[in-house]
Amino acid sequence: MNLSTRWLAVLGASAALALGAAPSALADTGTAAASTSTGAAATSGTDTTPSPAQADSIAARFGIEASLAHGALARAINPGDYQCASTDLDAYVGSLINGFSDTEWNFLIRHTEMLDIPTYDALLHGSDTDPRYALRPDYRQSLTQTFRDVKRFWDINSSDIELHAMHGSVMQDPERVARVYREVYGLSPTAAAARAQDVANAVSTGFDGGDNPLFTLNAFAFTAQGDPDPLVQGVPDKLIFGDGILDALQAMGIGDVGPRAVMGHEFGHHVQYEDNLFDSPLTGAEATRRTELMADAFGTYFATHARGLALNTKRVLQVEKSFYEVGDCYYTDPGHHGTPNQRLRASTWAADVANAARPQGKILPSLTFADMFEKELPAIVAPDAG
Ligand SMILES: [Zn+2]
Repeated sequence: MNLSTRWLAVLGASAALALGAAPSALADTGTAAASTSTGAAATSGTDTTPSPAQADSIAARFGIEASLAHGALARAINPGDYQCASTDLDAYVGSLINGFSDTEWNFLIRHTEMLDIPTYDALLHGSDTDPRYALRPDYRQSLTQTFRDVKRFWDINSSDIELHAMHGSVMQDPERVARVYREVYGLSPTAAAARAQDVANAVSTGFDGGDNPLFTLNAFAFTAQGDPDPLVQGVPDKLIFGDGILDALQAMGIGDVGPRAVMGHEFGHHVQYEDNLFDSPLTGAEATRRTELMADAFGTYFATHARGLALNTKRVLQVEKSFYEVGDCYYTDPGHHGTPNQRLRASTWAADVANAARPQGKILPSLTFADMFEKELPAIVAPDAG
């Protein structure tokens, strides 16, 4: 789920407008210090505030799904720009934003990279043995068990995939944050340290110590396989769950099945990595739509299959429907990830395949399932009648 450039460009423009209309932001001592410290090294040209467009290209660089927070924040700033019904997630993000003080808000719109810092720290440096990246206690058992189940379910080599969390509280740690500023945003060591200290100061008095769900509103699959980027060399395959996405699913009333369904989808991307299913004659939005719909199908097949999670099909489809309606709102190009209807058709088809297997309880090989999906894809993406 990568965000389109246009979305982020809109966020950039809106944030600039918001800044212009909020002179108090410029009087904030914390950010004034940031301007000074980064300004001092401005000649290098690498230490300005990372732009929203940069956020998009960085997510693409790592081949991960960008945080849902970017789109939601853009809509919260400028709801009139977006022609989509307001969703449960919007309401949730709106309540988070309304909970910010002026100081927090003014800091955030000048440091929108805070929406991504926990992601890149966890992606590059987290591990499943480091307690700082442990899954949060209330979901630890269920996610760990589901991860075990999904690894057993699919016939790929998955023993090397790590499951761990990302926590916004990392932003209390200037060392780790400065590392992200250097490695991902290319800031000089001096500028990175100064900006990381500003972030640490901001979360020491606000943002729930960094644990505000807005900063970890994401779950994603990652592999460095075939990626020549030196930054990711040696990073193991991962599935990372943000604390914030769990809070959001709970707030949307799908805290029961939602996290497991999300894991099914994200693990579907790992099946695609291992089986080399990303290549197709399609390009651009159509290619992304194909892989996302396929991940939906992998996820639903696992969630509903008798030897997978064996969850109630109706409930799974209900949960996925509310999810897909959220997702659709994020993208200006409706072909990008599939419309809610297309995604629901992919999931419904997969659930039917799973239910048909019930008497024998046979699990299809992942490549067989993928072949069946390819044959079904034209029907899944066919224009809706009427
Ligand atoms: Zn996906």
